[in-house]
Amino acid sequence: MLRQVAEGVLIHESEFCQSNAVVVHGRAGVLLIDPGVHGYEVACLANDLSDLGQTVVAGFSTHPHWDHLLWHARLGAAPRYGTARCAATARDRLSGGVDAVAKAAGIPEQVPLDLLGLITGLPAETAQIPWDGPGVRIIEHQAHAPGHASLLIEERGVLVAGDMLSDVLIPMLDMNAADPIEDYLAALRLLEGAAGDVDVLVPGHGSIGGADQVHARIDQDRAYVHALRDARVPSDPRVGPSAKDGWDWVAGVHARQLQRLARRSERDGTHG
Ligand SMILES: [Zn+2]
Repeated sequence: MLRQVAEGVLIHESEFCQSNAVVVHGRAGVLLIDPGVHGYEVACLANDLSDLGQTVVAGFSTHPHWDHLLWHARLGAAPRYGTARCAATARDRLSGGVDAVAKAAGIPEQVPLDLLGLITGLPAETAQIPWDGPGVRIIEHQAHAPGHASLLIEERGVLVAGDMLSDVLIPMLDMNAADPIEDYLAALRLLEGAAGDVDVLVPGHGSIGGADQVHARIDQDRAYVHALRDARVPSDPRVGPSAKDGWDWVAGVHARQLQRLARRSERDGTHG
């Protein structure tokens, strides 16, 4: 079921990790950001759109993780975009075949994989998604995944954060990057600079936030990354007993991140 979160901006929530697909109304059809996740959910989204008499005229994937690279034949053959780095990374990871990725990533069986990752990279420095609708600014950064893009729909006061600024998921760093901590902090600074007039925050996973949540979540994510950097125990509601129902596994993600960072600093001979 589609739910309006701002004028001309609707979301479709998945049962998988509370993923949010985003629909933006344009002049000749809609822009669809990160559709997902289970087959029946994407079919429901396609039905909702056709009930509204809408067709999809453009798609966008915020980053090259499978749950953000999905599509379905029923959504049509509109061009699907991502940043150049996102598209290159997706191509690279899928070069060994979709089945291998599905197995390695543990993708649930109900997920349609036929059209996984078939996105066109927008040239680096592309400022806006090319489509006929309200301007959607691409805020590219390298936190969480290569070529990750958060999207700012200024006219509607909406920030589509991708896998940043979630109330349920901690910052999940791209551990393959040269400096994952600094990449993440730089991305938070970028979002802070861009999000001044945002009224609605849509994370890739988790609850929609109001104006008050934008800076609160930026601060919360920054505090978490600082704690991770300093190998401190974070006082973070998303980790530990205060985690929301069904999200206790996030504590395990936190433990693995700590471990990997410790191994990196051993390898690099740096301390703290
Ligand atoms: Zn992700």
